[in-house]
Amino acid sequence: MEISRLLLDWYDKNRRVFPFRGISDPYRIWISEIMLQQTRTGTAAPYWERFVSAFPDVKKLADAAEEDVLRYWAGLGYYSRARNLHRAAQIICRDFGGSFPVDYEAIRSLPGIGDYTAAAIASIAFDVPIPAMDGNLYRIFARLADEHGSIDRPATRTKLRETAEKAMPLKRCGDFNQALMDLGAGICIAGIPSCEQCPLRMECMSEKKGTAAELPVRDIKKAPSERRFAVVIATEGNTIALFRRDEKLLKNMWVYLLLENAGEAELYTAFSGCTEIGSVGRARHVFTHQIWEMEIWHVKVPEGWECDTLAGCRWCTPEEQERLPMPAAMRAAKEAAAKILEYDHASVKKPLSSMAQSV
Ligand code: SF4
Repeated sequence: MEISRLLLDWYDKNRRVFPFRGISDPYRIWISEIMLQQTRTGTAAPYWERFVSAFPDVKKLADAAEEDVLRYWAGLGYYSRARNLHRAAQIICRDFGGSFPVDYEAIRSLPGIGDYTAAAIASIAFDVPIPAMDGNLYRIFARLADEHGSIDRPATRTKLRETAEKAMPLKRCGDFNQALMDLGAGICIAGIPSCEQCPLRMECMSEKKGTAAELPVRDIKKAPSERRFAVVIATEGNTIALFRRDEKLLKNMWVYLLLENAGEAELYTAFSGCTEIGSVGRARHVFTHQIWEMEIWHVKVPEGWECDTLAGCRWCTPEEQERLPMPAAMRAAKEAAAKILEYDHASVKKPLSSMAQSV
C-alpha cells in the first residue's frame, strides 16, 4: 500500500490533539508554526492560546506595540521569532491587504518563515502539496530509504525532499505533513524507534535491514560556547534596575545588569558606595549556541546614589517589571528579586543568607 494511505489511516485514529489542530485559519496556523520552530508542542499550546486571544488577527498583531508582542512571547525564548511575527504582520497588512498570502513563495518571503514553515502553513491551511521537511521528516525518510548520507549535507537533503515529494498525496497534504510530525514525535523517534507500532513498517528499508537505530547520519556539531555573567539585581527602595538589551541575542528584552566575567572584586569596585552586596544564587541557561553560567548578586543602592555601572537603567517597581518582556534566562534572577523585595519589606527580617539558593 502507498505510504500516504498507510500514514493517513494511522493519523485518523492516532492523531495528537492540540488547540491549533483541526483549524484552517492561516493566521492561527502561522502563529502555531512559528512557536513550534523551537518549542515543544505541549509547551507551546498555552502560549498560543494566550497569544491569539491577545492578538486575534493579523491587523491586531500589526498594530500592537513590539513590547506587548514580546511580553506575550516571554518564556518561549528565541525572541527574534516574535519580532519577525510582528514585522510580517505589518507586511501582510501593507502588501497583501491584511489577508494571509495563499501562495507558497509569498508565504516564504515573509520574515521568520523558512522552507519548513512555509510548507507547513501552505499545506495545512491551503492543502498545497509540499512536504514540510524538518528534522523529523528527514529522519523518517532517511530511515524509510535506508539513506546513509549525512542529513546535514545539502545533497542528501535534496534527495530526501524529492522522496518525500513523491510520497505526498494529492489531497489532505496538511494531514500528511502533520501525520509525519506525529510519527516522528512518538514512534520514529531519534535513537531507537518503536518500529513495532509503526504504520510504515512494511515499507521501511532500514527496519528490514536492522539499521534504523543508526539513522539518520549527522555531521559532528561544534559545542556551544560558555559565557559567565554576574547578574546584578540592584534595588533602590522598592524599585529594581532593569536594562533594555541592544545586543542581537535577546534584543529589546529587559534584563538585570549583566556583567560578563565579573567576580566579587569587580562588583565591590563597581558598587563601592553601596553597603549591602551579596551573592543570592546561581543559574544556568542554555541557548542554541551559548550557555550562560550566571551568579546572581543583590546590591542595595542608597537613595540618590549614582554610578556609571547603572547608567541607562530604568528603575521599575515589581508591577512595572511584570509589564516588561523578560527572557527565560532571567527567570531565576527574577524569583530571587521577588524574594529580596519581599524580605526588604517584611516586618520580621530573616538573615540575608537564608534567602540564598542555588537556582
Ligand atoms: S519502521 Fe521504524 S524506522 Fe521505519 S519509519 Fe517506522 S518507526 Fe521509523
